[in-house]
Amino acid sequence: MTTKKVFDGESAELMVQGLRETFTSGKTKSYEWRISQLTKILEFTRTHEKEIVDALHSDLTKPEFESFIYEICAIKSSCKFAIKELKRWMKPERVGATLLTFPSTAGIVAEPFGVVLIISTWNFPLLLCVDPVIGAIAAGNTVVLKPSEIAPAMSALLAKYVGEYMDGSAVKVVEGGIPETTALLEQKWDKILYTGNSRVGRIVMSAAAMHLTPVVLELGGKCPVIVDSDINLKVAVSRIIVGKWGCNNGQACIAPDYIITTKDFAPKLVDSLKLHLNKFYGVEPLKSNDISRIVNSDHFNRLIKLLDDDKVSHKIVHGGQSDIKNLKIVPTILLDVPDDSLIMSEEIFGPLLAILTVDHLEDSFDIINSRPKPLAAYLFTNNKKLKGKFVSEVSAGGMLINDISLHLSVPTLPFGGVGESGMGAYHGKFSFDTFSHKKAVLYRSFLGDAPQRYPPYTSRKLAFLKAVLKGNFTDIFRAVFYWP
Ligand code: NAD
Repeated sequence: MTTKKVFDGESAELMVQGLRETFTSGKTKSYEWRISQLTKILEFTRTHEKEIVDALHSDLTKPEFESFIYEICAIKSSCKFAIKELKRWMKPERVGATLLTFPSTAGIVAEPFGVVLIISTWNFPLLLCVDPVIGAIAAGNTVVLKPSEIAPAMSALLAKYVGEYMDGSAVKVVEGGIPETTALLEQKWDKILYTGNSRVGRIVMSAAAMHLTPVVLELGGKCPVIVDSDINLKVAVSRIIVGKWGCNNGQACIAPDYIITTKDFAPKLVDSLKLHLNKFYGVEPLKSNDISRIVNSDHFNRLIKLLDDDKVSHKIVHGGQSDIKNLKIVPTILLDVPDDSLIMSEEIFGPLLAILTVDHLEDSFDIINSRPKPLAAYLFTNNKKLKGKFVSEVSAGGMLINDISLHLSVPTLPFGGVGESGMGAYHGKFSFDTFSHKKAVLYRSFLGDAPQRYPPYTSRKLAFLKAVLKGNFTDIFRAVFYWP
């Protein structure tokens, strides 16, 4: 009988060594290699759509519709965008030089970091694993991907097909949990991108600090939604519902965590949310196939604990039912939850939605700004002044007005957090930039050499230098030709 060797520090070291050799060979830097690997990702996604849907169903009972839109289509379009734009992204950027360096040309050259580590999470286990890999490969790096052990079916699928489709000397998948990630984190990486919670984010950052490795941390937080009364209620509520429960049943980093609205408008908003929830998921949502289950019993129990908190258990105005056997919790709304309740003290990351009420909508800005900075902040309004104030006064990783989550799908926008919700960003060109070192290159010729820059230093040379720095041509001329 053969036993499978555990992935330990030694395995990690050997893996990184191999990848470094591949990187040093220079093969991952060519445009052709990058395109071939990106094309393989596209081919994998196209060929194995059914297996992907099945894996996502096995891990989360994710509805096929959601798997198709938010995972498969998202990866395909990210890959196609990178393939289309890569040549342009790789081109050195010409920038202006200065008078001091005249004659010269200056440019910024994007060079791959080298060997990068991507540690991912379970809620969008295809998208959040493969999308950063697209960026890392587009930028010409070798990569190790560590999917989440909490989505084992997708982790196994990626391990199998990355091995089959990609260049095995440059792209690897390591399956496993804390021991495997710890072994990986002990190695020296050239860049690490981590997606997950902020507690582990700190572990990743401390490990990276040992080697001065730069990190991107894609974390979470409590994403607020401000709802004005002056809106198309039906459209707003439909969008809030689909952004909250129609994306993994609230298990999404950019899902609405809590709503802030005025005391006067709250009853109307709650009624509309109830009406549309019943319309979308039926009156027995536990039986709906359009809602993902909670990923595992730990997260299920964590969410039930939030609901059982004495401070909020009587605040449920919709839902509240659960089915422990199938790990389902129905869309649940809690109105007027106190600030010191459990539900307001941590990221919900599930199908519970808290509503806070204020006298004046502008008060919401202080509520949001008094908390850790969220990954996304949303506002529903037609009021132009309010939109302006929201954008200028609220700090968040990203914001979206009059919809939920859609900003993520725009490849010309960076996606990432700020403060407690993370650092760094990716998507589209930002992914390429995230995995590239921007190397400054100045080209000089042997012409136009100024003897004034060389010792012995004299007051005439100093006057020349000062005149050049000021850009004062008369003084330059005087220092060169008419020095007293
Ligand atoms: P998780 O439990 O799958 O952990 C993420 C990764 O960290 C996994 O690969 C896991 O193996 C590894 N890990 C866990 N504990 C570790 C440890 N002690 N040492 C080293 N590695 C360890 O995922 P999670 O943290 O439950 O993910 C949910 C969180 O991620 C939420 O806070 C959510 O908001 C956030 N999130 C952020 C984004 C984003 O793009 N910003 C996307 C999805 C989720």
